[in-house]
Amino acid sequence: MVKINLNHIYKKYPNADDYSVSDFDLHIGDHEFIVFVGPSGCGKSTTLRMVAGLEDITEGTLEIGGKVMNDVAPRDRHIAMVFQNYALYPHMTVYDNMAFSLKLRHYDKAEIDKRVKNAAEVLGLAHLLERRPADLSGGQRQRVALGRAIVRDAPIFLMDEPLSNLDAKLRVSMRAEIAKLHQNLKTTTIYVTHDQTEAMTLADRIVVMNAGRIQQIGTPKEVYNKP
Ligand code: ADP
Ligand code: ADP
Repeated sequence: MVKINLNHIYKKYPNADDYSVSDFDLHIGDHEFIVFVGPSGCGKSTTLRMVAGLEDITEGTLEIGGKVMNDVAPRDRHIAMVFQNYALYPHMTVYDNMAFSLKLRHYDKAEIDKRVKNAAEVLGLAHLLERRPADLSGGQRQRVALGRAIVRDAPIFLMDEPLSNLDAKLRVSMRAEIAKLHQNLKTTTIYVTHDQTEAMTLADRIVVMNAGRIQQIGTPKEVYNKP
Protein backbone atom coordinates (compact mmCIF):
# COMPACT_ATOMS: atom_id res chain seq x y z
CA MET A 1 0.00 0.00 0.00
CA VAL A 2 2.86 2.33 -0.57
CA LYS A 3 4.90 3.80 -3.39
CA ILE A 4 8.65 3.39 -3.58
CA ASN A 5 10.78 5.72 -5.68
CA LEU A 6 14.40 4.95 -6.41
CA ASN A 7 15.73 8.16 -7.94
CA HIS A 8 18.99 7.75 -9.88
CA ILE A 9 20.56 5.53 -7.25
CA TYR A 10 24.27 4.72 -7.27
CA LYS A 11 26.19 2.34 -5.03
CA LYS A 12 29.93 2.05 -4.62
CA TYR A 13 31.16 -0.24 -1.85
CA PRO A 14 33.96 1.40 0.17
CA ASN A 15 36.51 -1.24 -0.84
CA ALA A 16 35.47 -1.51 -4.51
CA ASP A 17 36.95 0.26 -7.54
CA ASP A 18 33.71 0.37 -9.47
CA TYR A 19 30.07 1.13 -8.91
CA SER A 20 27.95 -1.94 -8.15
CA VAL A 21 24.74 -0.08 -9.03
CA SER A 22 24.58 2.88 -11.43
CA ASP A 23 21.76 5.29 -12.24
CA PHE A 24 19.06 2.93 -10.98
CA ASP A 25 15.82 4.84 -11.59
CA LEU A 26 12.53 3.14 -10.85
CA HIS A 27 9.14 4.28 -9.58
CA ILE A 28 7.14 1.50 -7.99
CA GLY A 29 3.38 1.90 -7.62
CA ASP A 30 1.06 1.08 -4.73
CA HIS A 31 0.67 -2.68 -4.35
CA GLU A 32 2.88 -3.40 -7.34
CA PHE A 33 4.82 -6.69 -7.58
CA ILE A 34 8.26 -5.92 -9.02
CA VAL A 35 10.72 -8.68 -9.93
CA PHE A 36 14.46 -8.08 -10.41
CA VAL A 37 16.23 -10.47 -12.77
CA GLY A 38 19.73 -10.54 -14.28
CA PRO A 39 23.02 -12.41 -14.07
CA SER A 40 24.80 -13.07 -10.82
CA GLY A 41 26.66 -9.99 -9.62
CA CYS A 42 24.55 -7.48 -11.58
CA GLY A 43 23.44 -5.62 -8.44
CA LYS A 44 20.03 -7.08 -7.57
CA SER A 45 20.76 -7.82 -3.90
CA THR A 46 22.63 -4.58 -3.43
CA THR A 47 19.62 -2.63 -4.68
CA LEU A 48 17.25 -4.56 -2.44
CA ARG A 49 19.53 -4.04 0.55
CA MET A 50 19.61 -0.30 -0.10
CA VAL A 51 15.81 -0.21 -0.05
CA ALA A 52 15.89 -2.12 3.25
CA GLY A 53 18.51 0.23 4.68
CA LEU A 54 21.08 -2.55 5.09
CA GLU A 55 23.47 -0.76 2.72
CA ASP A 56 24.13 2.97 2.42
CA ILE A 57 23.14 4.71 -0.78
CA THR A 58 26.16 6.41 -2.35
CA GLU A 59 24.20 8.81 -4.54
CA GLY A 60 20.54 9.38 -5.36
CA THR A 61 17.44 9.34 -3.18
CA LEU A 62 15.13 6.61 -1.96
CA GLU A 63 11.57 7.68 -1.22
CA ILE A 64 9.00 5.51 0.49
CA GLY A 65 5.48 6.84 0.70
CA GLY A 66 6.79 10.24 -0.41
CA LYS A 67 9.43 10.51 2.32
CA VAL A 68 13.16 10.49 1.69
CA MET A 69 14.49 7.43 3.52
CA ASN A 70 18.26 7.51 2.82
CA ASP A 71 19.14 8.12 6.46
CA VAL A 72 16.28 6.24 8.13
CA ALA A 73 17.28 3.17 10.16
CA PRO A 74 16.14 -0.23 8.83
CA ARG A 75 13.83 -0.83 11.77
CA ASP A 76 11.95 2.38 11.04
CA ARG A 77 11.28 1.60 7.38
CA HIS A 78 8.24 -0.65 7.87
CA ILE A 79 9.72 -3.26 5.59
CA ALA A 80 9.62 -7.02 5.97
CA MET A 81 12.38 -8.99 4.30
CA VAL A 82 12.75 -12.66 3.39
CA PHE A 83 16.14 -14.02 2.37
CA GLN A 84 17.32 -17.10 0.54
CA ASN A 85 19.13 -18.28 3.65
CA TYR A 86 16.19 -17.88 5.93
CA ALA A 87 18.30 -18.66 9.02
CA LEU A 88 15.72 -19.45 11.66
CA TYR A 89 16.83 -19.38 15.28
CA PRO A 90 17.51 -23.08 15.89
CA HIS A 91 16.99 -23.02 19.65
CA MET A 92 13.61 -21.27 19.40
CA THR A 93 10.23 -22.79 18.65
CA VAL A 94 8.29 -21.84 15.53
CA TYR A 95 6.18 -19.59 17.72
CA ASP A 96 9.18 -17.77 19.15
CA ASN A 97 10.86 -17.48 15.75
CA MET A 98 7.81 -15.64 14.49
CA ALA A 99 7.37 -13.61 17.68
CA PHE A 100 11.00 -12.52 18.00
CA SER A 101 11.03 -9.36 15.90
CA LEU A 102 7.83 -8.17 17.58
CA LYS A 103 9.31 -8.77 21.03
CA LEU A 104 12.33 -6.72 20.02
CA ARG A 105 9.96 -3.91 19.14
CA HIS A 106 8.19 -4.22 22.50
CA TYR A 107 4.76 -5.16 21.17
CA ASP A 108 2.53 -6.33 24.00
CA LYS A 109 2.05 -10.05 24.47
CA ALA A 110 -1.59 -10.19 23.41
CA GLU A 111 -0.84 -8.41 20.15
CA ILE A 112 2.15 -10.67 19.47
CA ASP A 113 0.05 -13.73 20.20
CA LYS A 114 -2.70 -12.59 17.84
CA ARG A 115 -0.33 -11.84 15.00
CA VAL A 116 1.69 -15.04 15.34
CA LYS A 117 -1.44 -17.17 15.46
CA ASN A 118 -2.97 -15.39 12.46
CA ALA A 119 0.20 -15.85 10.43
CA ALA A 120 0.42 -19.48 11.48
CA GLU A 121 -3.17 -20.02 10.36
CA VAL A 122 -2.56 -18.37 6.99
CA LEU A 123 0.55 -20.47 6.40
CA GLY A 124 -0.75 -23.81 7.71
CA LEU A 125 1.68 -23.78 10.64
CA ALA A 126 -0.85 -23.70 13.47
CA HIS A 127 -0.11 -27.30 14.50
CA LEU A 128 3.66 -26.78 14.43
CA LEU A 129 4.10 -23.82 16.79
CA GLU A 130 5.91 -25.86 19.46
CA ARG A 131 8.40 -27.42 17.06
CA ARG A 132 11.95 -26.34 16.51
CA PRO A 133 13.39 -25.72 13.02
CA ALA A 134 15.36 -28.98 13.04
CA ASP A 135 12.07 -30.89 13.21
CA LEU A 136 10.50 -29.21 10.18
CA SER A 137 10.64 -29.94 6.46
CA GLY A 138 12.26 -27.45 4.08
CA GLY A 139 8.89 -26.15 2.99
CA GLN A 140 7.73 -25.70 6.58
CA ARG A 141 10.89 -23.78 7.43
CA GLN A 142 10.37 -21.52 4.47
CA ARG A 143 6.82 -20.92 5.68
CA VAL A 144 8.16 -19.91 9.10
CA ALA A 145 10.49 -17.46 7.36
CA LEU A 146 7.48 -16.02 5.53
CA GLY A 147 5.60 -15.99 8.83
CA ARG A 148 8.29 -13.88 10.44
CA ALA A 149 7.76 -11.35 7.66
CA ILE A 150 3.97 -11.47 7.79
CA VAL A 151 3.68 -10.80 11.53
CA ARG A 152 5.38 -7.46 11.03
CA ASP A 153 2.27 -6.34 9.14
CA ALA A 154 4.57 -4.23 6.97
CA PRO A 155 3.32 -2.54 3.82
CA ILE A 156 6.50 -3.51 1.95
CA PHE A 157 7.87 -7.01 1.30
CA LEU A 158 11.39 -7.52 0.01
CA MET A 159 12.29 -11.06 -1.02
CA ASP A 160 15.74 -12.12 -2.14
CA GLU A 161 15.49 -15.51 -3.88
CA PRO A 162 13.24 -16.85 -1.13
CA LEU A 163 12.54 -20.14 -2.91
CA SER A 164 15.91 -21.05 -4.37
CA ASN A 165 16.71 -23.60 -1.65
CA LEU A 166 13.55 -25.60 -2.22
CA ASP A 167 12.92 -28.50 -4.57
CA ALA A 168 10.96 -27.90 -7.76
CA LYS A 169 7.59 -29.10 -6.48
CA LEU A 170 7.72 -26.99 -3.33
CA ARG A 171 8.83 -23.97 -5.33
CA VAL A 172 5.63 -24.15 -7.35
CA SER A 173 3.33 -24.32 -4.33
CA MET A 174 5.24 -21.66 -2.37
CA ARG A 175 5.19 -19.41 -5.42
CA ALA A 176 1.41 -19.57 -5.40
CA GLU A 177 1.39 -18.79 -1.67
CA ILE A 178 3.57 -15.75 -2.19
CA ALA A 179 1.25 -14.47 -4.92
CA LYS A 180 -1.70 -14.95 -2.58
CA LEU A 181 0.02 -13.18 0.32
CA HIS A 182 0.83 -10.22 -1.92
CA GLN A 183 -2.85 -10.03 -2.90
CA ASN A 184 -4.33 -10.55 0.53
CA LEU A 185 -1.94 -8.32 2.47
CA LYS A 186 -1.95 -5.62 -0.25
CA THR A 187 1.78 -5.20 0.08
CA THR A 188 4.16 -3.55 -2.34
CA THR A 189 6.68 -6.27 -3.17
CA ILE A 190 10.17 -6.41 -4.66
CA TYR A 191 11.29 -9.95 -5.44
CA VAL A 192 14.69 -11.13 -6.69
CA THR A 193 14.95 -14.37 -8.63
CA HIS A 194 16.95 -16.30 -11.20
CA ASP A 195 13.88 -18.29 -12.18
CA GLN A 196 12.12 -17.12 -15.32
CA THR A 197 8.89 -18.93 -14.45
CA GLU A 198 8.77 -17.19 -11.07
CA ALA A 199 9.37 -13.85 -12.74
CA MET A 200 6.67 -14.44 -15.33
CA THR A 201 4.01 -15.68 -12.95
CA LEU A 202 4.56 -13.24 -10.10
CA ALA A 203 5.56 -9.91 -11.66
CA ASP A 204 3.47 -6.93 -12.56
CA ARG A 205 6.71 -5.52 -13.98
CA ILE A 206 10.12 -7.10 -14.43
CA VAL A 207 13.33 -5.10 -14.07
CA VAL A 208 16.15 -6.67 -16.07
CA MET A 209 19.54 -5.65 -14.66
CA ASN A 210 22.98 -5.99 -16.15
CA ALA A 211 26.31 -4.80 -14.77
CA GLY A 212 24.66 -2.57 -12.18
CA ARG A 213 22.27 -0.90 -14.59
CA ILE A 214 18.65 -1.31 -15.61
CA GLN A 215 18.61 -2.85 -19.04
CA GLN A 216 14.87 -3.10 -19.49
CA ILE A 217 11.65 -2.58 -17.55
CA GLY A 218 8.43 -4.18 -18.74
CA THR A 219 5.55 -6.52 -18.12
CA PRO A 220 6.38 -10.24 -18.29
CA LYS A 221 4.94 -10.24 -21.80
CA GLU A 222 7.08 -7.33 -22.91
CA VAL A 223 10.24 -8.83 -21.43
CA TYR A 224 9.87 -12.48 -22.47
CA ASN A 225 7.63 -12.55 -25.58
CA LYS A 226 9.45 -10.20 -27.85
CA PRO A 227 8.36 -10.65 -31.49
P1 ADP B 1 23.42 -9.91 -7.48
O1 ADP B 1 22.49 -9.84 -6.32
O2 ADP B 1 22.78 -9.45 -8.75
O3 ADP B 1 24.07 -11.24 -7.63
P2 ADP B 1 25.09 -8.18 -5.87
O4 ADP B 1 24.25 -7.00 -5.58
O5 ADP B 1 25.26 -9.21 -4.83
O6 ADP B 1 24.59 -8.85 -7.24
O7 ADP B 1 26.55 -7.67 -6.28
C1 ADP B 1 26.73 -6.59 -7.21
C2 ADP B 1 28.23 -6.29 -7.29
O8 ADP B 1 28.66 -5.73 -6.07
C3 ADP B 1 29.10 -7.51 -7.55
O9 ADP B 1 30.15 -7.12 -8.40
C4 ADP B 1 29.61 -7.84 -6.17
O10 ADP B 1 30.88 -8.46 -6.26
C5 ADP B 1 29.71 -6.49 -5.52
N1 ADP B 1 29.54 -6.56 -4.06
C6 ADP B 1 28.49 -7.08 -3.40
N2 ADP B 1 28.63 -6.94 -2.07
C7 ADP B 1 29.82 -6.31 -1.89
C8 ADP B 1 30.56 -5.88 -0.74
N3 ADP B 1 30.07 -6.05 0.50
N4 ADP B 1 31.75 -5.27 -0.93
C9 ADP B 1 32.22 -5.07 -2.19
N5 ADP B 1 31.59 -5.44 -3.30
C10 ADP B 1 30.40 -6.07 -3.17
P1 ADP C 1 7.84 -15.21 26.95
O1 ADP C 1 8.87 -16.10 26.30
O2 ADP C 1 7.90 -13.80 26.48
O3 ADP C 1 7.78 -15.32 28.43
P2 ADP C 1 5.54 -16.92 26.93
O4 ADP C 1 6.20 -18.21 26.62
O5 ADP C 1 5.17 -16.64 28.34
O6 ADP C 1 6.42 -15.71 26.35
O7 ADP C 1 4.22 -16.83 26.04
C1 ADP C 1 3.43 -15.66 25.97
C2 ADP C 1 2.09 -15.98 25.26
O8 ADP C 1 2.43 -16.49 23.97
C3 ADP C 1 1.30 -17.05 25.95
O9 ADP C 1 0.20 -16.48 26.62
C4 ADP C 1 0.80 -17.96 24.86
O10 ADP C 1 -0.54 -17.66 24.50
C5 ADP C 1 1.62 -17.62 23.65
N1 ADP C 1 2.48 -18.77 23.29
C6 ADP C 1 3.77 -18.97 23.62
N2 ADP C 1 4.25 -20.10 23.09
C7 ADP C 1 3.22 -20.62 22.39
C8 ADP C 1 3.08 -21.80 21.60
N3 ADP C 1 4.09 -22.66 21.43
N4 ADP C 1 1.90 -22.03 21.00
C9 ADP C 1 0.88 -21.17 21.15
N5 ADP C 1 0.95 -20.04 21.89
C10 ADP C 1 2.11 -19.77 22.51
